Amino acid sequence: MLAFASPARAPGALEVVASFSIIGDFVKNVGGDRVNVTTLVGPNGDVHVYAPAPADAKKIADAKLLVINGLGLEGWLPRLLQSSGGKAPITVATNGIAPLRLGSDADPHAWQSVANAKIYVANISDALVAADPRDAEAFRANAGRYAAELDALEREVRAAVAQIPPAHRKVISTHDAFGYFASAYGIEFVAPTGVSTEAEPSARDVAKIISQIKSAKIPAVFLENFGDPRLVSRIAAETGSKVGGTLFSDALTDEKGPCPTYIEMVRHNIKTLTSALGN
Ligand code: ZN
Repeated sequence: MLAFASPARAPGALEVVASFSIIGDFVKNVGGDRVNVTTLVGPNGDVHVYAPAPADAKKIADAKLLVINGLGLEGWLPRLLQSSGGKAPITVATNGIAPLRLGSDADPHAWQSVANAKIYVANISDALVAADPRDAEAFRANAGRYAAELDALEREVRAAVAQIPPAHRKVISTHDAFGYFASAYGIEFVAPTGVSTEAEPSARDVAKIISQIKSAKIPAVFLENFGDPRLVSRIAAETGSKVGGTLFSDALTDEKGPCPTYIEMVRHNIKTLTSALGN
């Protein structure tokens, strides 16, 4: 018999919909070939501002399980659920995680701590077992194996941070997605004060940031969404800080990018940070 390398679903596999790429990766690791995972917000997508397509309602209607982040991340979901008429149970993967605050709201980016990722995985494992008890043993074995990989990743992150001199463990960043990472691993993400990232920064904004970096002795700048990259280079040149490169927060990349899985994303970020802060 010929075997075709087609994306055909495994017969009898459980249909699971994940809200975005990072959760999709967790579900794949736990479900293995016993699940068929569909991700609504795919690689490089922005899960905060997603506009669901009509096809998404069909995906949800066909699903046996829907896995979401919760903590207010998927604000577009309630309407989509309503229009789908789907009856699948919904698992909130952050259940049991004590949320940090982001302004006046819960900070949804809980996956940026690897210890939290293990809670996501445990919740997903329980949900898959409940949705398809016949494959309970496989789901639990996969979850155990993946949790061990996450434990190794956690040790890797801590060892890498330990190599950074304590006084260097801070960056200036317009990302607001690293609160859990900062609190778990002790790298401070300092926001540029009094500067709007909505508009092009003015000369005065740039001067403010330069004096903030100098007075707080911040060794690296991650101002990726800061408009003109030449401005960032100028800030780096005038302060002696390093331009830090790209951190990934809310989406995996496709296979060609540097972060097609959660584990690769965390590794990429920690490498980027340590090479900017290392000495
Ligand atoms: Zn975000």
